[in-house]
Amino acid sequence: MTNQKVAIVTGGTRGIGLAIARQLKADGFRVAAVYGHDKNAAKAFETETGEKAFQADVSDYDACQKVVQKIEKELGEIHTLVNNAGITRDSSFHKMQPQAWHEVIHTNLNSCFNMSHAVIPGMRERKAGRIINISSINGQKGQFGQTNYAAAKAGMIGFTKSLALESASRKITVNAICPGYIETDMTSKISADILTAIIGHIPVGRMGRPEEIAYMTSFLASDKAAFVTGATLSVNGGQYMA
Ligand code: NAD
Repeated sequence: MTNQKVAIVTGGTRGIGLAIARQLKADGFRVAAVYGHDKNAAKAFETETGEKAFQADVSDYDACQKVVQKIEKELGEIHTLVNNAGITRDSSFHKMQPQAWHEVIHTNLNSCFNMSHAVIPGMRERKAGRIINISSINGQKGQFGQTNYAAAKAGMIGFTKSLALESASRKITVNAICPGYIETDMTSKISADILTAIIGHIPVGRMGRPEEIAYMTSFLASDKAAFVTGATLSVNGGQYMA
């Protein structure tokens, strides 16, 4: 173990999470990436960064408790938690199956409870910490075919504000970032014609890059952001001005 601060990034082995993990490492953190099932991405992450990836299903409360204990044992006390893991199971509401609703709520929203509950006692005791929740533009404005996803992402914003209120006196900040459309595996599932239509509504005229979410995360995790808490920060190319 070293004196370096430790950050956990859920879903940290690919997409936005990988960009965040790379940036936090560049900022001087030890980084633990928590991943679901993709062992190849986990190996590639370890080879590239020299940091370790830990398998855990963030929708499972006990698995989150165990993985945080394991990371603390191997790397040390957790300074920053980035709740980034997320999934989509899109369909219009009248066709949505209960499973699609529950999977998205469990993975995107309950995961924030599960992971934050595991790290918050230590942060409160040490009077230091950062929790950064990766929400979405669609949690702010709603989206056709995403009642489940938008509900989970809007829920993350309410969670962020309430936990920020409870944690401020302990010098723990809690913030949400709402990315717009970012080039990752998640958005590669969207058909080309729909993407073209979406880009038509983005004033900067392009999709975002994962690094652009990582820069905001880097700031929120830093000492410079000690006065920023309970905030919902949009990084969306001007697509939605909340
Ligand atoms: P992605 O699909 O490329 O990566 C998601 C990551 O989450 C993967 O590493 C996956 O292993 C992990 N994950 C999924 N379910 C998990 C589980 N049960 N347990 C542990 N890990 C799990 O997605 P992305 O585009 O990089 O998105 C990252 C976050 O940003 C998500 O929360 C997403 O909702 C949000 N977001 C993305 C966009 C976008 O345009 N890409 C826009 C707004 C918000």
